Amino acid sequence: MGARESTDRYFHEAASLMGLTANMQKLLLTPERQVKVQVALEMDNGEVSTFIGFRIQHNNARGPLKGGLRYHPEVDEDEVLSLATLMTWKTALVNIPYGGAKGGIQINANDLSPAELERVTRKFTDEIHDVIGPDKDIPAPDMGTNAQVMAWIMNQYGKYHGFTPACVTGKPVELHGADGREEATGRGVGLLTVAMLEKMKEKIIGAEIVIQGFGNVGSFAAQYLHNQGATIIAVSDAFGGIKNEKGINIPALAEYVAENGTVKDYPESEPVSNEDLLVTPCTVLIPAAIGGVLTKDNASHIQAKYIVEAANNPTYPEADDIFDQRGITVLPDVLANAGGVTVSYFEWVQNRQYFSWDIDKVRDELDKKMLDAFKRTWEVATTKKVNLRLASYLLGIGRVGRATVMGGI
Ligand code: GLU
Repeated sequence: MGARESTDRYFHEAASLMGLTANMQKLLLTPERQVKVQVALEMDNGEVSTFIGFRIQHNNARGPLKGGLRYHPEVDEDEVLSLATLMTWKTALVNIPYGGAKGGIQINANDLSPAELERVTRKFTDEIHDVIGPDKDIPAPDMGTNAQVMAWIMNQYGKYHGFTPACVTGKPVELHGADGREEATGRGVGLLTVAMLEKMKEKIIGAEIVIQGFGNVGSFAAQYLHNQGATIIAVSDAFGGIKNEKGINIPALAEYVAENGTVKDYPESEPVSNEDLLVTPCTVLIPAAIGGVLTKDNASHIQAKYIVEAANNPTYPEADDIFDQRGITVLPDVLANAGGVTVSYFEWVQNRQYFSWDIDKVRDELDKKMLDAFKRTWEVATTKKVNLRLASYLLGIGRVGRATVMGGI
């Protein structure tokens, strides 16, 4: 099953429950525009390589399109469309005035020199500058991209349209970025993990947490949960995993990663494979890396009481069904990882007002938005007796549907 089949199934489940007609379902699921471009790059050695780039704009009923830009060898049209639809429900769920989009280049960013990465980014911007912009579609970081990539996009976009910092979010703080954007997704994941455990009358102090992924999302989530008194017992990244049942010292691990570029071989821990990490007994399992990691094959072996989806689309529907049957509560991606796009919204607001907020204001406003969305999702799940994913889709799709009808077709 591909990424798109998964997100479509979740959509149809919610849409049927809402009684949406087949035509309305089709209208809401069909993307507004799909851009596919060739990105030719002159490599440092003088050879020319060509890559495929996408920007898929799913739905703008509630406002300009918004979503990340992914540089990854597995980027394809289906996956980008699936991720674009997730952005539509996500922005609606946290109630920020955007629609949903996603983009990407089928490329392994690790294989490129910084100069090549800059050239490919500028070339891609040349290809899509007409369809993006502060009132049209605002890209942001995702897997394989970062603040530096956003700075290049802003600069290149400015060559066509003049100084326009709000054309992209997740920029460096020194270059019109927002303080607190980098930590935002991980902070939101941590915040809602604590909120969920509280609802379930579980203690955060001593709760055992396993995190797959120690990048921008996983590392900040780990830090937040560590500060709240949770015990992080295993983490991994693309190079390997580590485990320590007594708890990993997260600040020390962060220093180790800053020096070594990986969690692998961190002292005071034993190695763990990716497969074993996922089935480690724990209170909360947090997939914070790539999509499609929780499958029908490993779902019955997962020994977590809760799953918090920090990654986009980590759970296949068959696995989701198994978690339901086994009474494992899943906090879905559209809610759990919405902190990133929420602070992207704050960055865009600041750029448009030429006025910057301090970090405390960013954190306060983020926490408010996230907790409000969590509270509403929990209420819907309880009153309608559905799981949290279905509840979040009901809320998100409901808002997009109403905006579509009110705006007219
Ligand atoms: N890539 C992030 C996401 O999947 C952030 C998108 C944004 O900030 O626009 O939510």
